[in-house]
Amino acid sequence: MKLTALNELNKTLAPTEKMPVMFLGHGSPMNAIEENEFVTGFRSVAKSIAKPSAILCVSAHWETKGTYVTAMNNPPTIHDFGGFPQALFDVQYPAPGSPELAHEAKNLVKKTNVGLTEQWGLDHGAWSVIKHLYPNADVPVIQMSIDHFQSAQYHYDLAKELAALRRKGVLIVGSGNMVHNLRMVAWDKLNTDNFGYDWALEASDKMKKYILNGDHKQLINFRSQGKSFDLAIPTPEHFIPLLYVLAFQEANEEVSMFNDKAVAGALTMTSVKIG
Ligand code: ZN
Repeated sequence: MKLTALNELNKTLAPTEKMPVMFLGHGSPMNAIEENEFVTGFRSVAKSIAKPSAILCVSAHWETKGTYVTAMNNPPTIHDFGGFPQALFDVQYPAPGSPELAHEAKNLVKKTNVGLTEQWGLDHGAWSVIKHLYPNADVPVIQMSIDHFQSAQYHYDLAKELAALRRKGVLIVGSGNMVHNLRMVAWDKLNTDNFGYDWALEASDKMKKYILNGDHKQLINFRSQGKSFDLAIPTPEHFIPLLYVLAFQEANEEVSMFNDKAVAGALTMTSVKIG
């Protein structure tokens, strides 16, 4: 390997203090361009931690067969939604990628062959929140996909294999929503502060209790938690990024929450910081 390439590698992946890990509730794509308390929450959590050398993001909005990481130098901003104002389609988040981190992630995972791809970029699950953490787009970002065909336990175990990245300056971000049922959204209550249906609040309270108690088994077994969980998690893609994040928790690590509010009855923005 050429010396310059080696230096580049070291720059990204040098040993560091242990980085925190975060689950970010992203909610509506409009959070990308609105000023609201959730955006304020994202900004303040970024200020509370050391600036990462790179970010690995598991977003609810990238499901694949098999597991992939983005490996290009300049991931495009993907506008993967419809029916929103032009201002949202105009958003560009030109953070660089990190082929070095993509290779490192691939090498760490033994469970499966992680594919390197240039066929994705940054979807709104990633950029709508990361742009508030690092508005200058000066931290490289890669995404890791969610294998749609695998179990919750599989995702949790796969995430554990990436644990070493925390000590290489990498911020792991899971982006989804713990309670996320778009069919049940009360569109007339979009602007009602902290409005959640009873089932949404029940599921949210149980999820938070399990997280704070470190009882990850109950969350991995989310399909055995009864009606409120079934309504809160009609499909698993917005919940699984939480499991990726929890898998990184080490013994006696502090867990804190922010943006802990329900929106329009059937969503929660609750976000989690570990470490
Ligand atoms: Zn989403």
